[in-house]
This record gives sequence, C-alpha cells and structure tokens, in this order.
Amino acid sequence: MNLQMTQEQLLFQNEIREFTCKSIAPTADERDQKDVYPKEIIKEMAKLGYTALTVPKKYNGLNRTKMDACILMEEVAYGCAATAISLITIFQAETMLVLYGNEKVKSHYLPLFREGLIASYSLTESKKGSDIRSVDTKAVKKGESWIINGKKTFITSGSAAEFFILLAETDKGVSIFAVDRNLPGITIDIGENSQTFGLRNGPHVDACFNNVIIPDYCLLGEEGKGVKQAVVTLNSSRTAAAAISVGIAKAAYEKSLQWVASRKAFDQNVIDFQGIQWMFADMLMNISAARLLTYQAANLHDIGKASISESSQAKLFAGQMATKVCSDAIQVCGAYGTTINAPFGRYLRDAKSYEIAGGSNEILRNTIAKEIKKSF
Ligand SMILES: Cc1cc2nc3c(=O)[nH]c(=O)nc-3n(C[C@H](O)[C@H](O)[C@H](O)COP(=O)(O)OP(=O)(O)OC[C@H]3O[C@@H](n4cnc5c(N)ncnc54)[C@H](O)[C@@H]3O)c2cc1C
Repeated sequence: MNLQMTQEQLLFQNEIREFTCKSIAPTADERDQKDVYPKEIIKEMAKLGYTALTVPKKYNGLNRTKMDACILMEEVAYGCAATAISLITIFQAETMLVLYGNEKVKSHYLPLFREGLIASYSLTESKKGSDIRSVDTKAVKKGESWIINGKKTFITSGSAAEFFILLAETDKGVSIFAVDRNLPGITIDIGENSQTFGLRNGPHVDACFNNVIIPDYCLLGEEGKGVKQAVVTLNSSRTAAAAISVGIAKAAYEKSLQWVASRKAFDQNVIDFQGIQWMFADMLMNISAARLLTYQAANLHDIGKASISESSQAKLFAGQMATKVCSDAIQVCGAYGTTINAPFGRYLRDAKSYEIAGGSNEILRNTIAKEIKKSF
C-alpha cells in the first residue's frame, strides 16, 4: 500500500477543494439553519461527474476508485457535512444497483446519476432501526409486479429524492427494491422526528408506500437476501462515512487553530499555552490516525479485498474522533466557540449524528467483535 497520494489524486483533491471553497462552504451555515437539501450543488457536482464517481464507464460514470470517493468526501465534508451525506445516499443507491441490479434496471437508472438523480436509502422504520433482520414494510408478488406497503423513517435526502432503494419483507424474507419516486402511492411526510440537530440536508423524512406497484425487474439481487446485500452496501458506505468524519474534524481543527493564533489571554496568544498546544497535538494525531484507517479500508476495497471489520473500524474511530475534536475545538475557543456565529456548533452536531447514522458505534463494535470471533 502506497501511503503517498498519486499526482492524479492530489490534482483531484485540489479540484474538489477549490469547488468546496467556492460553491459549498460559503452557504453551509445558511443551509444548516434552514435545513434544506443542497439541490443546486448536487446538480453542479453532477456536471463535474462527482455524483457518478465510482459508477462504471459503461453507465456514463467516471469509474474512479473508493480512495477517490474518500478524497471527495473529506473535502466536501470539510465545507459542509450535510452536502457530503447527500452524496452518500446517492453512492449507496449506485453501489446497490451496480452490485445487485439486473441489466435492465442498471441501464435505466445508473446513467441518470450523471444527470444529478437524487437517491435515498430506506431501511429504518419506526420500530426497526439497528435490527433490520425483519421489517414491517411488505412487498407482495402479483404477476410480473410487486405491490409495496409500509413506512420508512429518518430517510436522509428523502425530501428531494427521485429514487429509493427500499428494504421490504417478502415471503422469503427481507428483500431490496429499486423504487421510482414518481410512482402513484408514494408520499413524503415531515414526521414529528424528521428534523435532526445534525447532518441537516433537509428533514430526514417519513417515506410512505401505499399500494405502490413496481415491475418485477426492480427486485435487486435475490429475494430474501436483502440483509446480506444491505450489509455489503453499508460496508462500502461506512468507509466514505469515515472520510466525512475526518473532513468535519479537520474543519474544526483548522478553524479553532486560526482563532487561538490571534486570541490573547494573560498577555500572550492562546496558542502559546502549552496545555492548549497539547490539545492541538492530540487533535492532529487523531485526525491523521482516522484518515489512515479510512485509507486502509478504501485501499482494501480497491484491491478487491473489502473488509467489513476495517470499514467498521474506520467509521467507529473516525466518528468518535470527530466528536471529540469538535468538542475540544469549542473548548479552546472559549465563549466564541459556543456562539451561533461560529461554525463549531454545526461541526459538533454533524459529528455526533454520524456516530448513529449509517451504523451506530455499538453496532460497529458488534460487527468488529463478530469478525474477531471468526478468527479463532
Ligand atoms: C442523521 C441521521 C440520518 C439517518 N439517515 C437514514 C437513512 O437515510 N436511511 C435509513 O434507513 N436510516 C437512517 N437513519 C436511521 C439510522 O440508520 C438509525 O438511527 C440507526 O440504525 C440506529 O437505529 P435506531 O435509531 O432505531 O436505534 P435503536 O436500534 O433503537 O438503538 C438504540 C440504541 O441501542 C443500541 N443498540 C441497538 N442494538 C444493539 C446491540 N445489539 N448491541 C448494543 N447496542 C445496541 C444502538 O446502538 C443505540 O445506541 C438516520 C439516522 C440519523 C440520526
């Protein structure tokens, strides 16, 4: 494994950094306050190919690596984590389609991501969160169609979604479906719990499916194997989620460093207190460690050895690290750190939310422990 970025990766990183500084970061606080989906930004990123970064060329994607996806996520999250998770739900849908879609569904949907198709990944229900071994949403086969009934909650990007990846129970167990938003019977509700304090890319809505009829070819993969397929897809998105946490932490670290460099106390700059310097040393060390775990998971993915343990380790470590770094960044900035004019509240809320979304810390620990048990 080469720990140095290639020239191509460095150029890609710079390109996204410039895009983020110009088109994403300046409006991040405003979007956070209003809790809106960054539709215009996603459409702009689609033009640059970012929304179809890892989609095969055959389907009009850029066919780039998981490592590139992590570079993209860290840079975008540095400017706005809510925009980065808007990309994650798109990437999750693409991964599910690439891995499990039949040719008909792939050639219909995958090219649309290059045009900015917005997707949601719908697993959670009011009574089913961490445990998706069975769900209340039902899919019943009728001739060449499936009829879907049920309600999903906390659906990220759902307020703008044009396409859903959906987990539903069939006679053979949990299965996964590709569902077009335009179909009759789908309603999107802002439920009483839809507005989260972090990762605010619009309300995490309730998506209701009432006798929604979809064609048979929209069943993804094998009927009854949905849990395994969801885990494989989540495994992939956990690495990108770790990169988002690294991006949030880096932003908190840099912004707090800027503040303490010029803030005076007891006739010296705050950065000159050794106790404060040690906090920055720890922040930097932990950001670097999380980034290395992220790159390790991405590299394993790129060489065809994707590991659920390594991607879970990356997300768990990076998620906890980001929350701690954001909290310390507030601490070193004193009262200024707690103001609503400073970005640190957003950073902390986003970081904490990612310790739950996409696999909570506890579920990640269970996953890692399960892999440890397999090894003896
Ligand atoms: C910002 C945000 C965005 C989200 N976006 C989406 C989305 O797009 N699509 C989607 O489907 N869902 C989404 N979710 C929901 C998310 O996937 C769930 O919140 C998560 O899976 C945990 O489920 P839960 O909230 O029901 O917690 P519960 O399952 O009720 O768990 C409660 C607590 O118990 C712990 N726990 C549960 N089981 C175990 C166990 N076996 N061992 C130890 N501890 C355990 C959990 O870790 C948690 O701390 C989102 C959530 C958030 C916060």
